[in-house]
Amino acid sequence: MTTIDYDRLYVGGTWNAPATDQRIQVHSPTDEQLIGSVPEASEADIDAAVSAARDAFDDPEGWAHWSPSRRTEVLERFAVALEERGGETARRVTIQNGMPIWLAQQFEAGFPAVLLRYYAGLVEAGQEERRQGMLGKQAVVTREPIGVVAAIVPWNVPQAITFLKLAPALAAGCTVVLKPAPETVLDAFLMAEAAAEAGLPAGVLNVVPAGREVGAYLVEHPGIDKVSFTGSTAAGRAIAQTCGRLLRPVTLELGGKSAAIVLDDANLGDTIESFFGATLLNNGQICWLGTRVLAPRARYDEVVDTVAGLAGSLVVGDPLVETTQVGPLVSERQRHRVEGYIEKGLSDGARLVVGGGRPADRDAGWFVQPTVFADVDRKATIAQEEIFGPVLAVIPYDDEDDAVAIANDTDYGLGGSVWTADPDRGEQFARRIRTGTIGVNHYSNDPFSPFGGVRASGMGRELGPEGLVAFQSVKTIYLDQANDS
Ligand code: NAD
Repeated sequence: MTTIDYDRLYVGGTWNAPATDQRIQVHSPTDEQLIGSVPEASEADIDAAVSAARDAFDDPEGWAHWSPSRRTEVLERFAVALEERGGETARRVTIQNGMPIWLAQQFEAGFPAVLLRYYAGLVEAGQEERRQGMLGKQAVVTREPIGVVAAIVPWNVPQAITFLKLAPALAAGCTVVLKPAPETVLDAFLMAEAAAEAGLPAGVLNVVPAGREVGAYLVEHPGIDKVSFTGSTAAGRAIAQTCGRLLRPVTLELGGKSAAIVLDDANLGDTIESFFGATLLNNGQICWLGTRVLAPRARYDEVVDTVAGLAGSLVVGDPLVETTQVGPLVSERQRHRVEGYIEKGLSDGARLVVGGGRPADRDAGWFVQPTVFADVDRKATIAQEEIFGPVLAVIPYDDEDDAVAIANDTDYGLGGSVWTADPDRGEQFARRIRTGTIGVNHYSNDPFSPFGGVRASGMGRELGPEGLVAFQSVKTIYLDQANDS
C-alpha cells in the first residue's frame, strides 16, 4: 500500500515548511503497517500558528468583524469541500484508529458539514437582544467571538470531535489553532485541504499536530483566549490547572464510566441493536458508552446471557469491511491498557462470561475480543475506571433505589442509558441519574441538544446553542435611552 505523506503544515492559510524535521508516523491498527506520516509541530510552529490566528482575529476588517452571512458563505463552501472528501475522510479515520467504516461514514464523513451549517445558521439568526431595564433604561446584550481558540482533540472520533469545536468557533467569529492527536493526523490534513479550497481567510484555521508537551505549550500560550479540550480526565485536570492560573476560559470534555441500567420490565432482546450502540460502539472507544451494565437481581442471569450473547456474536475484523462490527483498538499501548483491565477484573474475582483474549483468527493488529464480566462488585476497578475498549461489567442491583445509588457511585457523569418497556418510567428514572446526558432505550447525540459531563467528566457543553455560547463573550451596552412604554 502506498503511504499518505505530507511535508508541510497548514498555518496562516498556506502550506509551510515545519520548523524541525520531526515527523509523526501512523501505523495501521489492523495490520501494524506504516500508513502515513506528517510533520510534527514544534513549539516554534505553535508560535507561528498562534501568531497567524491572533493576527486574523485582531484584524479590524477580519473574520471576527465580518457579518454572519459573509462568514456563512465561506463555511458553506467549507461544508461542501468536506462532503466532497467524505468518503476519503471516513477511510482515513478507519485505517488510522480502527473505527468500523460504516460508523466512520456516519460520524466522520457526514457530521462535520452538518455542524458547520447548523452553527452558521444559529449565528445568522441573531446574537443580540435589546432588553428593557429594571431601572428604566434599555440595554443591548450582545455576544462577541471569544477570541483565539486552542482546540485539542483525541483520536477516537477525530473529525466529529474537531467540528464540535470548529463549527461553533468559526461561526461565532473566532480563529482557531487545532492540535489533532498524533494517532489521527491524516484526516486532519485532508480537512485542512478542504479549508484551503473553501477559501478560509489566512490564519482563521491552523492545524498543528503534536503530542502532549507541545499541546501543553499551546494551552499556556499567551496568544490564546480560550481552550477547548476533549480527552482524558488526567490531561483535563492538568489543562484546568493551567487555565485556572491564567484565568483562561476552558471547556473540558473528559472521560466517562457511564451506566446502562436495565429496568425489571425491559426486553433487551427487542432493542439489542440500540444496546450495542450505547455500550460497545467504536470498539468500546467512545467516552459516553455505558460500560457498567446494571441488571435487576431477579433477572440477572437472563440479562447476563443477553449481553454475553450480543458480545459473543459481534463480527470482529478488518474495520474497512462493511460487515465488521468491532475493529482493532487504536494502538498497541491502548490494547496493553485494556488487557491490563481484563487481568485486573479476573484477579479481583469477577466472572468472565465471554471474550477476554485476542481473536484467534488475527495474527496481526491490536484486536481484543468483546468481553463481558458478570458478578462485578460496584467498587471494583473495572466498575470504576474507564477502560476504553470493548469490555462490559454487569453489576446486579436489588431495586430502583439501589440501581440509582450504583449508577451514581462514580467519579464520572457523562452518558448513560435506561432500558425499559415503559418510556415514561424510563424518563423519570433518567432524571435521578447524575450525568450530563442520558438516553431512554437508546443513546445518541443530537446537534440540537447539549452534550457534556459533570464531575470528572468535564465542564461546559458542546452541541446545541450551549455549544456556541462557549465561544462567545457576552457584552452589555447600557443605553441612555428610556424603556419603551
Ligand atoms: P489524551 O488526554 O491522552 O489526549 C487527548 C488529546 O490531548 C491529544 O491530542 C493529546 O495529544 C492531548 N494532550 C494530552 N495531554 C495534554 C496536556 N497536558 N496538554 C495539552 N494537550 C494534551 O486522551 P486520549 O487517550 O487521546 O483519548 C481518550 C480519552 O478521551 C478518554 O478518556 C475519553 O473518554 C476521552 N474522550 C472524551 C470525550 C468527551 O466528549 N467527553 C470524547 C472523546 C474522548
